[in-house]
Amino acid sequence: MLSVEEAQALVLSGLSPLGCETVPLSQAFGRVMASSAIARTTHPTADVSAMDGWAVRAEDGLALTQIGESAAGHPFAGTVGQGQCVRIYTGAVMPKGADAVAIQEEVVANGSAITLGVPAPKGRHVRRQGQDFAAGQSLLGDGHRLTARDIGLLAAMNLPWLQLRRRPRVAILSTGDELAMPGEPIPEGGLPSSNGLMLAALVQNWGGEAVDLGIAQDDFDSLVAKAKGAYGCDLLVTSGGVSVGAYDKVKDALASLGFTAGFHKIAMKPGKPLMSGRMGDMPVLGLPGNPVSSFVAAQLFLKPMLRRLLGVSPELPVLETALLGTGLEAGGPRQEYLRARLERTGAGLAVSPLPGQDSAMISELAAAQALIVRPAKTPAARPGDHVSVLLLD
Ligand code: AMP
Ligand code: MG
Repeated sequence: MLSVEEAQALVLSGLSPLGCETVPLSQAFGRVMASSAIARTTHPTADVSAMDGWAVRAEDGLALTQIGESAAGHPFAGTVGQGQCVRIYTGAVMPKGADAVAIQEEVVANGSAITLGVPAPKGRHVRRQGQDFAAGQSLLGDGHRLTARDIGLLAAMNLPWLQLRRRPRVAILSTGDELAMPGEPIPEGGLPSSNGLMLAALVQNWGGEAVDLGIAQDDFDSLVAKAKGAYGCDLLVTSGGVSVGAYDKVKDALASLGFTAGFHKIAMKPGKPLMSGRMGDMPVLGLPGNPVSSFVAAQLFLKPMLRRLLGVSPELPVLETALLGTGLEAGGPRQEYLRARLERTGAGLAVSPLPGQDSAMISELAAAQALIVRPAKTPAARPGDHVSVLLLD
């Protein structure tokens, strides 16, 4: 049996980041930078007021005469001389000569006669030109995945187009005679397929583009016909058909399309069987059929593969530490991933395993907010002990 770490190294071997493409900023949310962004504009572009009030000269006294107005988008054209001031609004350019803003709450205005309640020291309530960033400055490096805040920043940097990593196209093939697409008639004793749509959602969430190939029957012809849909994709993910016995059908069908490599037993629970290899140039990842196993294996293997293809680091899942809410029996011979509920307490994050740990219990999977990661043969743990957790979503 391979350890999880050995299996992660195996599925990542030979994978490298995809090429890049030019994308409009409006389409860039959630995408990954392929080079660092260089600001085309200084921010702010000029010294501007941070408040509504009067632009003044710090060296002047408290009694001033208003000579004009500066509003956002409408700068004052003249110069503020001794004893003078200009009405100013938030975001408006500081007029020449002025170097501070007296906020309106501290000013008495009587026509153009302005009396400050307190002196405004030099620079008060002024946003300096370039205080945020300067044109030419490099921000958000290669491999950075764009948040909504980053989109705002890139807009401020005046970058309508970006060089982004191409989104990995991931073909997803569910297998099983017992399966039906949700909404379709269910074979007797069968069930609706959960994995295809769940994996597609994970792929989207992790920055890829899912191509759902539907459900193949457990026979050679059906598997071959459906698997051909993966041509042109960057990765093929299958679910099911990797338990002993069933595996040969999937392997034989893919082998007829050029698949090489094989089947591994991973020292993990759930999710022991895993298929990995290549079909021509295309990496293939075969996940177990049980939805919980499929999900956990996707977290541990598919997500790192997508991160490698996108050039995002860290590739491997990052574990946190949490306090155990309820005790745990000693661990078995494989690394375990327990579905758990998360609570934020005064003492930090607390996790408690959910009662249903069967790998077909998708309701418990959906209720979970974390996976408790227990190395093989861990001794029993008591409430309050520290455990490693993988936070979900
Ligand atoms: P298999 O690996 O094909 O032997 O499947 C193991 C278990 O997972 C069986 O109980 C299957 O019915 C179930 N299973 C396989 N594929 C799916 C799927 N797409 N959605 C839900 N359950 C599945
Ligand atoms: Mg099956």
